[in-house]
Amino acid sequence: MLNALSYFVSKFRDICFPITCCNCGKIVDSEGLCLDCWKKIKWLSDPKCKICGTPFEIDINALCPMCIKKKPYFDKAISTFEYDDFSKSLVLKFKHGDATYICQQLAVWLYRVSGEVIKNSDIIIPVPIHFFKRLKRKYNQSELLAQRLGKFGGIPYEPRVLRKKKHTQQQEGLSRNARLKNINGSFDVAPKYAHLLHGKTIILVDDVLTTGATANECSKILKRAGAGKVVVLTMARVSL
Ligand SMILES: [Zn+2]
Ligand SMILES: [Zn+2]
Repeated sequence: MLNALSYFVSKFRDICFPITCCNCGKIVDSEGLCLDCWKKIKWLSDPKCKICGTPFEIDINALCPMCIKKKPYFDKAISTFEYDDFSKSLVLKFKHGDATYICQQLAVWLYRVSGEVIKNSDIIIPVPIHFFKRLKRKYNQSELLAQRLGKFGGIPYEPRVLRKKKHTQQQEGLSRNARLKNINGSFDVAPKYAHLLHGKTIILVDDVLTTGATANECSKILKRAGAGKVVVLTMARVSL
């Protein structure tokens, strides 16, 4: 009797509130993407640069030319999929639209490729956005993502450590050099929370890794304030 009742309840729920693909809205059996959208996402896999995660054609167990030329301040960067025209729509939905629902799915995917690293780290912090931008956008997508990842991995989420002290121009559309200049000196560590960093392994969460300028600047600030290691997690990365 109970089984029949729970079957009826789940059927009723499926009809009234069907599970839909988080990208195109097509009805699916389980949460996530429909098969068509799943196939279109370029999931990142090995081989790749040991530091920044740039994908390689063949496994050479080495660093990419950029990391050889100048090692970034972060120790490793991990992303889930390539940022291209297709995945952009998913990322933009998360940034400006139905954040909570998509966030859960994005966090599950990112945790799949970074769970071990998160569990072995000390704290997780989001790349902050400036107060004015937050007022406009109402939420910071990196905070939502970091919060969930911290919960999955059982490590403390600390959104107040890193601060965006300067309101900067949008990074999108700027050249690599212009990005570096734009972001330089725009973050700092809140003195009150600096003790949380000393010798610790920090997970830094952002939405997309483009040139790595933001991730690098934040990592520099965190390391200068005493962080031992910084691992950057982003849901997507631009293939350069
Ligand atoms: Zn779909
Ligand atoms: Zn690299």
